[in-house]
Amino acid sequence: MQTPDLSPDPSNPTPRSVAVLAGGIGGARFIRGLLHYLAVSEPGTEVTVIANTGDDIRLFGLQICPDLDSIMYTLGGGISEERGWGREGETFTIKDELAAYGAPPTWFGLGDRDTATHLVRTQMLSAGYPLSAVTEALCARWQPGVRLIPMSDDRVETHVVIDADEPGTKQAIHFQEWWIRHRAAVHAHEFVLIGAEDAKPAPGVIDAIRNADIVLLPPSNPVVSIGTILQIPGIREALRQTSAPVVGLSPIVGGAPVRGMADACLEAIGVATSAEAVARHYGARVASVPAGADGGGILDGWLVHDDTDSAAIANLTPLGITTRAVPLLMTDVDATAQMASAAMDLAREIMAART
Ligand code: GDP
Ligand code: CA
Repeated sequence: MQTPDLSPDPSNPTPRSVAVLAGGIGGARFIRGLLHYLAVSEPGTEVTVIANTGDDIRLFGLQICPDLDSIMYTLGGGISEERGWGREGETFTIKDELAAYGAPPTWFGLGDRDTATHLVRTQMLSAGYPLSAVTEALCARWQPGVRLIPMSDDRVETHVVIDADEPGTKQAIHFQEWWIRHRAAVHAHEFVLIGAEDAKPAPGVIDAIRNADIVLLPPSNPVVSIGTILQIPGIREALRQTSAPVVGLSPIVGGAPVRGMADACLEAIGVATSAEAVARHYGARVASVPAGADGGGILDGWLVHDDTDSAAIANLTPLGITTRAVPLLMTDVDATAQMASAAMDLAREIMAART
């Protein structure tokens, strides 16, 4: 295998802080590659990760934060590499015992090791600590090498509107039930982020975006990970106003998600499953006409997969989204570090073009 060239472009200044908006597995794996790239090529750079908490669910009295945990375990070396979520060496005795009682839900993969995390989190939340402080406390064990902040300390949950049994009626179920139990195979009419309107960004979120030298959007789910974070009042505005370039990486390669069911999420919001359509949905930051109904675009730069999606370059760049095609498959840490390197280079190129 070729040794990756991780050296930064010497003509460009080195950034000191990077802010990343992230979902679970896609976000976590990308950040692991980013940290690898930074350690080799730009040591000293601080990374702040703003994580989606719309997937959070309370089960059996436990507050479960799947995306925060995926990031914490992946960066802290505790993740199950085969599954991509949860702890390595996990056992499921508690889940089996709950099923033996017939205690629903039986579809959630509640691991024994993982449960210790949920117990500590729930105990601290019950004692009055905000989720951001609890996350910081959990990270004292995992040492993820980033500052990990939930998007909000307020409880917000993604629910999915689907058809109810009675013809012509609808019902809303928790995102996790739709995703895990139904494998996203039940048609989603709409995603509703319950509690979003009144939610505030967690302490440090807005400052991290405003003060960042570069903002990155990993190849996370554009609807139920990044899209959710953007619904917290103030976050989209901060992205539009920051002086940092905002560069994203496509989670869609060759018209399909690399992993998971993001196509079902995109279909529900009327966006085609393509790297180009996702960038158009995010919108260009420079556009004076707001993209969609959401109050303005957020992207300066966009990376698409080189073998399949390079046609997007000619279509997106004139819109104000500087687009490049590079390999975007996170097959291992080195390949992912190369993606991070390309994203950082594009951000610096965009910064240099401004002056
Ligand atoms: P989740 O919360 O665990 O679903 O994770 P994220 O929202 O952070 O990321 C999910 C997205 O990651 C999916 O839409 C995948 O298509 C994308 N993804 C996973 N692996 C890869 C990869 O190797 N390359 C790219 N480009 N996207 C990936
Ligand atoms: Ca998630």
